Amino acid sequence: MFTNRIKMLLKNKRNLWFAEISEIDKPTIDNTLLFINICRLRVIAWLIITFMLVLVFTQLFYINKIDLSLSYISKLNLTRILDIGPNIITLRLIIIGLAIIFLKISNRLTSPDAILQKHYYYELSYLIINLIGFAVLSGLIQSVGPGIASSYIMAVLIAASFLYLNWLEAIIVFGLAWIVMSIMVWTYQPDWIIASSAFVNGSINTILAFIISQIMYINSVKNLLNYRLIERQKKELAISNNKLKQLSFFDPLTNIPNRRYFNDFLNREWKRAYREKESLCLLMVDIDQFKLYNDTFGHQAGDDILVKVAQELNGVIKRPGDLIARYGGEEFIIVLPKTNLSDGCLIAKRMIKAVELLDIKHPSVPAGRLSISIGIAWATPSNSKELPKNLIELADKALYSAKSHGGNCYILGNETNPM
Ligand code: GH3
Ligand code: MG
Ligand code: MG
Repeated sequence: MFTNRIKMLLKNKRNLWFAEISEIDKPTIDNTLLFINICRLRVIAWLIITFMLVLVFTQLFYINKIDLSLSYISKLNLTRILDIGPNIITLRLIIIGLAIIFLKISNRLTSPDAILQKHYYYELSYLIINLIGFAVLSGLIQSVGPGIASSYIMAVLIAASFLYLNWLEAIIVFGLAWIVMSIMVWTYQPDWIIASSAFVNGSINTILAFIISQIMYINSVKNLLNYRLIERQKKELAISNNKLKQLSFFDPLTNIPNRRYFNDFLNREWKRAYREKESLCLLMVDIDQFKLYNDTFGHQAGDDILVKVAQELNGVIKRPGDLIARYGGEEFIIVLPKTNLSDGCLIAKRMIKAVELLDIKHPSVPAGRLSISIGIAWATPSNSKELPKNLIELADKALYSAKSHGGNCYILGNETNPM
């Protein structure tokens, strides 16, 4: 019990301090972080160029104009300033040069997908060289400065808070920079008190930078993992939504839309027909004497026939805007938007022919083979309140009328004679 609690506690702590990345996520996350790093390094490179140029010009302008009468400038200090001046200018120019080279190299990166292995080395080496450059600069400035290694400190803190480095990269980058900073500070600053103060400042800030960089890294990895998880869940949701749609709007036997789908579709098309002052044709199809077919050949055979008839009817309608749905047991309904009565009749004729050509034996009907009857209704909606219900009723009546004429024919909603 107690050990379990400790284990849980440790596990939670571990989750807090480490971001575990699965093998599937690793390449994407590595690439994304590298891409962000390079984008940010490009911004930093531009800033470095700007600031360094300003500093170089200021230095060139002021180096010979130092006022010796100022109390804090001793003769010794002045000689040191004049001594290291050219070195500092050279170093700043080198840092500008490096930034320009880096900007040129990383110019063509447009997305995480364009990242190559070599970009990783460009990024890491640019970062290391830069930090070392700033460590050297700090050391040089230390020879006259107040002992806080400020250039170096700014460089490591900026690197830590703007870039994503894992623990190994962070150790290498900040470790190397720290070593160079230490050497430079002790080499250039003759006063050991000033030197040690710079060294302590630099070291504490390196540790701080390391901690900041790890917090940044872990948080960003966790964010990316969450983002990927959400993306994955969105995809799964879309898939199951599609499945649900399929289940609720399609007939499992014939695989064509069901009555629910038809109702929505007809309402939509009805409104559109009203808006666009177009006509709409509705065909209600029913298999003749299907109960007797089932009784003769069995329900399984009946099911197979339903599938075949659905396929045939579906094959007749060609326009993408048309719809065929299973309306009931052995009844199908067809919606033909923007279709006039004569085209509706043509489709009905083709459907009757298509089923006839299936040549399915059906001894209980006069023709001896399976046939269908069709009721046709046609309308141009004249007011928005009018409902397509009337259209369905009309088609139903026509179908009834076709049946009463012995089936295997189609009848128009407002006529009584079969065609
Ligand atoms: P009519 O010519 O007047 O349409 O006669 P009918 O026998 O086709 O019409 P009725 O409405 O009396 O019977 C329809 C039959 O369709 C009843 C049922 O046996 C059959 N049926 C309905 N749904 C299915 C189904 O999913 N599979 C099978 N095999 N048969 C079905
Ligand atoms: Mg029926
Ligand atoms: Mg029937």
